[in-house]
Amino acid sequence: MIYEFKDGLEFAKELDRLDVLNSTRQRFYLNEGEIYMDGNSLGLSSKDAEAALQNVMNVWRKEAIKIWGVEDGRYFKFSRNLAEKLKSLINADAEEIIVMGSITSNLHQALATFYTPTEARYKILVDALNFPSDIYATKSMIELKGYEVEDVLVQVQSKDGRTLCEEDIIAEMKEDVALILLPSVLYRSAQLLDMELITKEAHKRGIIIGWDLAHSIGSVPHDFKKIDPDFAVWCSYKYLNGGPGANAGMYINRRHFGRNAGLKGWFGSKEESQFLMSHEFDQNNDANGFLLGTHNMFSMAPLDGSLNIFNEVGIETIRAKSLHITAYLMYLIDQKLSHHGYFIGNPREDSRRGGHVALEHDEAYRISLALRDHKVIPDYREPNVIRLAPVALYVSYEEVYRLVEILEKIVTHKEYEHYSLKRVTVL
Ligand SMILES: *Cc1c(COP(=O)(O)O)cnc(C)c1O
Repeated sequence: MIYEFKDGLEFAKELDRLDVLNSTRQRFYLNEGEIYMDGNSLGLSSKDAEAALQNVMNVWRKEAIKIWGVEDGRYFKFSRNLAEKLKSLINADAEEIIVMGSITSNLHQALATFYTPTEARYKILVDALNFPSDIYATKSMIELKGYEVEDVLVQVQSKDGRTLCEEDIIAEMKEDVALILLPSVLYRSAQLLDMELITKEAHKRGIIIGWDLAHSIGSVPHDFKKIDPDFAVWCSYKYLNGGPGANAGMYINRRHFGRNAGLKGWFGSKEESQFLMSHEFDQNNDANGFLLGTHNMFSMAPLDGSLNIFNEVGIETIRAKSLHITAYLMYLIDQKLSHHGYFIGNPREDSRRGGHVALEHDEAYRISLALRDHKVIPDYREPNVIRLAPVALYVSYEEVYRLVEILEKIVTHKEYEHYSLKRVTVL
């Protein structure tokens, strides 16, 4: 889409006045005077999340063991409760969604379940730009199945070091590929892949395909009825604002219900037989059959509260603002920063980008340190990317305007030169 923007603070304030999401900001805890651009790494706390967590504390205090039975088993079936609230984000059925663990542990479950190598088909296709943990999980599953990583793992390379070509991925879908695992949105460059095309091409060749939605869930709507992947995983602490280490999500396409769970646990049993304590696993016949142990109530409750906001405003509204405010950020970067060595590393087209802007600069590391001293919280990724996520639910246009002014000041006055190049942990 072509957006019309103007420079100047007054225009930014006008955009805030017109913003249909400007009232959701009040539900989040923002620090006065600080510009938070890191919601793609850890989303902010909200009153909704806090109230939901406090509620579970109260129910535990009052009910003790009876917590599992009260309110028609709401807490015993808490993953189902959350699935109801998640389904509209990916257009799936609630029975296809579970909430547990982390992305990494859910990937282990997915790979243990879906990676069933044969002599003819045993390769796993991934990309060279994916997040390390996804690759570690894949490698460890290859080892567990008794194969050598170098015989099995195929990594699609990037031509420019930032993005992937759908055609290159499809070209690697050879007849010995058993499974494909890809990110929906690349964590560094924010590239949004054509999930429908890639999934369709994989299925044409009889290949199982799963998606990691870490950088799209809660920011980019997905239509899983149309895309029709085999499985997906995501975390809940980035755009979903479920809190640090909040339990992650997993989608299992209903055509795989009843498929033998690679990892088994008693919460994967049919509800009616779970407490019969039999040693025969009676697997639930929907996605809940892939659950493992007791719900981590305190890592799920804040998500319960946070998801209310998503359901109230709708993911399409969130995406519309996200595209608009990131386009505004790119406009300002083009206007004010491009002759200062800054480069926009994410794709420009709406259909090919997620919720953050990948701002590159040779001095990105030290600029991100200087940003902190200006009370801006960015996110740095090696070797040269400052990720800036103006999250639709709580970042204002005025903050984006001020951010770009600060970025300009830091390079004009070479403020970054006051900082050491020596890396400190977790930016
Ligand atoms: C954030 C992220 C993870 C993190 O995994 P956890 O196990 O939930 O900590 C994994 N993969 C991708 C692509 C991510 O962006």
